Amino acid sequence: RQNERESLFIVLNFAKDFYHSHLLKSDEGQSIGLSYFRERGFLDNTVQSFELGYSSDQWDALLQEATRRGYRAELLEKAGLVLSKEGGKTYDRFRGRVIFPIHNVAGRVIAFGARILKTDKNQPKYINSPETEVYHKSQVLYGIFQAKNAIRQEDICYLTEGYTDVLSLHQAGIKNVVASSGTSLTIEQIRLISRFTQNVTILYDGDAAGIKAALRGLDMVLEEGLNVSVATFPDGDDPDSYVRKVGAETFKKYLSQHSNDFITFKTDILLKDAGDNPFKRAEIISEVIQSISKIPDPIKRQVFFQKTARQLQVDEQTLISESNRMVLSQQ
Ligand code: ATP
Ligand code: MN
Ligand code: MN
Ligand code: MN
Repeated sequence: RQNERESLFIVLNFAKDFYHSHLLKSDEGQSIGLSYFRERGFLDNTVQSFELGYSSDQWDALLQEATRRGYRAELLEKAGLVLSKEGGKTYDRFRGRVIFPIHNVAGRVIAFGARILKTDKNQPKYINSPETEVYHKSQVLYGIFQAKNAIRQEDICYLTEGYTDVLSLHQAGIKNVVASSGTSLTIEQIRLISRFTQNVTILYDGDAAGIKAALRGLDMVLEEGLNVSVATFPDGDDPDSYVRKVGAETFKKYLSQHSNDFITFKTDILLKDAGDNPFKRAEIISEVIQSISKIPDPIKRQVFFQKTARQLQVDEQTLISESNRMVLSQQ
């Protein structure tokens, strides 16, 4: 087992080097991959620190070089780097894409994300490594290795949706940032963050999907005792596009002005949804109480009951007794 994991790390590291040097040194890599990153404004320094790469638009460029170096096809397949067709033909998983290596917290490459260069309705924008013995998607946060010191130092972690959000913020000097890579947040990811800080601000895309994702799964974060805030971006923007537009200083100011603690954020969105409908308002109240009840610290809970009572224009005592009733009926 241990040996197999080690072999996977070694072959994944080989693949990372292969894609990275292809990006920097081959004609195809430079003219297609590197110019893609440059056109998006990513500096060489960012390309280096995230070890970005390029996979050639051929069926088996990686497979051939790996084979020449003595890596068995079976190992490459276990690492998620190649696929085998029914007939037995083996080919590269990542072709004609820019490559984002995914590092674990110790800095070892465990998987890859790969983006197409031009929008194409017939192809997914991003593809990722499959689950392997060293890659469990639900336990990983993109960028954690590059961000962990800054997260500890700043005592806050920014959580974004995508690879390029991490790259752009990092490049703008905001280094305490990771991405959930489009999946909804898991308990393992939260525990990973809580090794470095208790404070998380969610920076999800300013589209409906982003806001929905921000509401989903966040009760779980409260339950872990983390302090969660949410900032949303103008519709159509994500942290990458927004920081590029306004620069780091304005971006930080925007965050301080537009982030809310999660409970206030949730209450606000639900309230807007409900309008004047009293039935809907009643439903909201119990939903928000449920979230507050998840907070383990009684003092924080108290503060949120006060704040939320004002926001919902209901009596604080009503919220508290309703919360007690809910908690009791769930036991
Ligand atoms: P870009 O700026 O390059 O277009 P993005 O990060 O803004 O990328 P989004 O569409 O906002 O892309 O998606 C957020 C994240 O979700 C991506 O970074 C990627 O990790 C994941 N993702 C997006 N599309 C797919 C897909 N088709 N398959 C798998 N994962 C995806
Ligand atoms: Mn999005
Ligand atoms: Mn995005
Ligand atoms: Mn984007």
